[in-house]
Amino acid sequence: MGTLAELRDVSKTYGEVAALSGVSLGIGHGELVGIVGPSGSGKSTMLNMIGTLDRPSGGTVLIAGHDVLSLTDRQLSALRANVIGFVFQQFHLAGGVPVLDNVADGLLYAGPSLRERRLRAYRALERVGLGHRLGHRPHELSGGERQRVAIARAVVGEPRLLLADEPTGNLDSRSGAGVMELLRELNAAGTAVVVITHDRDIAASLPRQVEMLDGRIVEGALT
Ligand code: ADP
Repeated sequence: MGTLAELRDVSKTYGEVAALSGVSLGIGHGELVGIVGPSGSGKSTMLNMIGTLDRPSGGTVLIAGHDVLSLTDRQLSALRANVIGFVFQQFHLAGGVPVLDNVADGLLYAGPSLRERRLRAYRALERVGLGHRLGHRPHELSGGERQRVAIARAVVGEPRLLLADEPTGNLDSRSGAGVMELLRELNAAGTAVVVITHDRDIAASLPRQVEMLDGRIVEGALT
């Protein structure tokens, strides 16, 4: 399978707080992995490490073979833009901006023309079942639809790795199930997906689970 993301003995401290302590984890190409554990156990911190949103205090983070600590900020941004998509509990869409452009803006870093960005955004929105909502603003959509837009934006650049932090946390169970189904479809099409969830049923339905407690992995570090 080959390793897409690897944490080797990674630690992260915030002042006195050890958010992560000696975590080692590999994510393979095309995997679907759930991260579970109580609030404060380090799940988001670990996802931020995999997503290169933050650098480790100790240990090594390798993304697509690149050591995050050896890259400049600029190189890191390029790596992130090319390899990783993010989805968050709070959607993080731009208010007042039509859905099509919310998604097209996911390609700003990659630099194709506006026309090309919009074409690809349209395709991504069709893929998430929202090809008929291009001109809607986020506040005109349901929570489930907003999260679909956020997912379209995350995958419009065709990342190899999709990281989702409690993507169903703000949704009713039906919309949440729809979002999980969509993540499965994207995974089946080849994208590796790592999803933080507090929902035990969702976690149990995933092929691999990583369980965290007090900044450490207590189960599932190895495939
Ligand atoms: P989880 O996602 O499992 O709820 P987090 O990774 O958010 O856990 O947090 C792990 C620990 O690190 C918690 O004790 C949290 O308070 C602390 N922490 C996380 N981010 C920061 C930060 N930016 N500054 C200070 N402490 C933080």
